[in-house]
Amino acid sequence: MKPAVFVPEPIAPCGMALLEAACDCTAPWAEGKVLTDAEAQELLHGADAVIVRLFEIGAADLQQCPRLKVIAKHGVGVDNIDCDAATARGIPVVFTPKANANSVAEHTIGLMLALARSVVPASVALREGRFAERSQFIGVELAGRTLGVVGLGRIGSRVAEIASAGLAMRVCGYDPYVAPGAYAGPAERMASLDELLAVADFLTLHVGLTAETRHLLDDRRLARIKPGCRVLNTSRGAVIDESALVRALEEGRIAGAALDVFEEEPIATDHPLCGAPNVLLTPHIASSSRESMDRMATDCAQGVLDVLQGRTPADAVNPEVLR
Ligand code: NAD
Repeated sequence: MKPAVFVPEPIAPCGMALLEAACDCTAPWAEGKVLTDAEAQELLHGADAVIVRLFEIGAADLQQCPRLKVIAKHGVGVDNIDCDAATARGIPVVFTPKANANSVAEHTIGLMLALARSVVPASVALREGRFAERSQFIGVELAGRTLGVVGLGRIGSRVAEIASAGLAMRVCGYDPYVAPGAYAGPAERMASLDELLAVADFLTLHVGLTAETRHLLDDRRLARIKPGCRVLNTSRGAVIDESALVRALEEGRIAGAALDVFEEEPIATDHPLCGAPNVLLTPHIASSSRESMDRMATDCAQGVLDVLQGRTPADAVNPEVLR
């Protein structure tokens, strides 16, 4: 009998094709069906594998899943899965950390270019018949300016490469967890975040959200930032204290901000950031490209097949259960 794979949310056809060759897949969305919570739970409880995007899997669910051998996250953030409970039950949680790094990096660069040249407000002005306001949109060039990269992991490293090689920026980076010999990219390493804040004309955040990085950019740090810096965040909203950011913008200490992620999502439309003139916002779409969606679907399907067929998956959140 083929293993039963439950796919409660849409994934790209390339991932489904990979799974369907070896498994019995249940993907109600493919037939336009919307499941009730009870129907979804029943399918989960009978599955050998499940692939989730935002679908939640808690400890209580896992107790009712006697056949479950692998959980796959289509993406990176696994906060919708109780990974500790999965680990306690010996269930690997596979994920797709390499799939979206380039898309997020490209979106970050796009935000930086748009912010530097006021692309969005200029477009709005034109559409509203205010063509003459073009004289107000004097931007800045990126070449020769300093980009500060906080977090030199997969996404931060790619941003550093593009900014250095493609835009002729000076790139400086801060990441206390990457050993000097382990980083071969173009970023000049800074010994402290404060040093980076002092030199960056643009500051971009690429750290995971942890107790240490929550409100990494707060009032204290924003007071040390180079005056006129522009801040970019495509990591997790809570890495910035949004109230502190609003204060820094209102006081003109920073020249602008571009954010793809927010402390609360969706951000309320009456949030002060939504009304701020020098702020560019996108609705958590940094990884939303066709290529990234295809890679996430393929990588998580492959992770499921690897576990079901006795191979070691490339990326597991809890590799200790594979030993
Ligand atoms: P990664 O794990 O490869 O890199 C994170 C880096 O941050 C690591 O090198 C780590 O050493 C460093 N770091 C940790 N604490 C730090 C600190 N205090 N100061 C400086 N550096 C620190 O992760 P990644 O794949 O590059 O992802 C980065 C972020 O992007 C994550 O928050 C992830 O959730 C987010 N992300 C967002 C989207 C989106 O759509 N906006 C998509 C994918 C990922």
